[in-house]
Amino acid sequence: MILNKWNCKKHEYENYKVPDEWNIKTYGNSMDEIINCCKCGKKIKFGDSYTSLEVHTEMGFGYSVCEKCYEREWKRREKNRWKRCWYMINTKINTEW
Ligand SMILES: [Zn+2]
Repeated sequence: MILNKWNCKKHEYENYKVPDEWNIKTYGNSMDEIINCCKCGKKIKFGDSYTSLEVHTEMGFGYSVCEKCYEREWKRREKNRWKRCWYMINTKINTEW
């Protein structure tokens, strides 16, 4: 199965392949359904999963990830937000002042 993974450095989606036997979901049939984390493949209950910030469907819905992967994504996003912020401040200064 091929999903879309957001590349926060390039600011575009890239193909992200997961094994076909993984049960990856954007929504569960029940909170107790056992699904795979779309990042590390770990089996988790849907009720314990988080919505990925990086791996999305065509429509932009996030797939479920485990807590550890979610934490990693979140940290990466924060780091990049800071970088972008500094970049914006610097360009603003360079162009307007
Ligand atoms: Zn995971």
